[in-house]
Amino acid sequence: MLQSQKQALRFRRALLSNIVLLMCIPICTLAAFLGYASVPKSTLYILVSMLWFGHLLLVAMIVFNWNLRFKDASLTMTQMLWTITGISVLMYMLNDIRILTLMGYLLVMAFGSFRLSMKGFNAVALYTVGCYLTVVYLIHSHRPEDISLAQEFFTLIGFVLVMAGFTYMGAETSHLRKVLSERHRELKGAMSRIEDLAVTDELTGLYNRRNLLKILSQQRALANRSRYGFVVCYLDLDHFKKVNDNYGHPFGDKVLKAFSNLINENLREVDVGARIGGEEFVLILADTQLDAAQKVCQRMSENWFMTSFPDAPNLKFTFSAGITEYRSPESIDHILERADGLLYDAKNNGRNCIVLEQKDLQVPLDLSINETLDSLSAIPSKAELET
Ligand code: GH3
Ligand code: MG
Ligand code: MG
Repeated sequence: MLQSQKQALRFRRALLSNIVLLMCIPICTLAAFLGYASVPKSTLYILVSMLWFGHLLLVAMIVFNWNLRFKDASLTMTQMLWTITGISVLMYMLNDIRILTLMGYLLVMAFGSFRLSMKGFNAVALYTVGCYLTVVYLIHSHRPEDISLAQEFFTLIGFVLVMAGFTYMGAETSHLRKVLSERHRELKGAMSRIEDLAVTDELTGLYNRRNLLKILSQQRALANRSRYGFVVCYLDLDHFKKVNDNYGHPFGDKVLKAFSNLINENLREVDVGARIGGEEFVLILADTQLDAAQKVCQRMSENWFMTSFPDAPNLKFTFSAGITEYRSPESIDHILERADGLLYDAKNNGRNCIVLEQKDLQVPLDLSINETLDSLSAIPSKAELET
């Protein structure tokens, strides 16, 4: 029935104060029998039971989740004000042992330290002192023989001082709790950022090498247990060093980010793209055959060739790729080495080329390249373009 851990905590706290209030019933009964009540016993029972019953209703509200409709779902203030009012009524009805009820006030204030702010604490403390003064005034007016004003004066001073101390400590506790929960939130945020950094590449946001290896071993386990198969594509941007040399490192970073976006745009949700080094990327295409993987890389190659940057509008980009299928039960190192070997073949083949596992399926890409990075020396540099 309780929706969350928070609700369970609220319930536990409310129940605890309810048990304390329940215990007041036999104590008051005994006090009434011993003649410490200045009102008829029946009135005392009714009032103490009402106090307990009212609090029981607040517990029920938490059990049935009705408290969630209120801004202060813990109902701390409501519970405190209700109990303080009850204690004050009890104080009015008792005579010689009246001072005991002051302890009840302090217990209620301690309860508030779970939740109230400094402002809330001050408000409750003021209400409590107000109730106390009202009771003293009422007793003095109706039963002057039951009260010694001089004695009551010192009790009041002592009580106000203790209340001030309680308010201060309660508010400090409340403040500490707030600081602690803020730190906790910050720590959680930092933890999730660290977790992200541990699995992603900072520049591109793609998965990093470590996470790629983890995913590859999961894919491998799946493939070894069933007929499931996957393809690994090893991609490397062509002549990327020249991009950096001619246009600067920040521009190179921009190109790497653009290529990562291209990867994200061309992969399905079940596929994985990772940056495993400078300008080297690995794709895992889930439940895919070589020919389908080839089409994906070809499409990417065409889109990459069409990509242009305002800083270097005439520059055309290409990449080379090695594509291979997982052969159960080979190791992760094996498949990566094979894909890397195929990429090497693609580079040797003149770049801008996709090499599949079977040599006879080598696919030189004919993109009618007028101006690729191969001919970068012929391409004007950024400075030249601006002049
Ligand atoms: P190839 O066609 O044979 O792959 O030649 P290449 O120039 O692309 O390859 P090479 O390995 O010679 O150079 C890779 C370059 O990538 C060198 C390095 O400065 C650059 N690089 C590596 N990491 C980053 C990075 O994070 N940002 C930028 N801007 N450049 C990087
Ligand atoms: Mg390269
Ligand atoms: Mg490289």
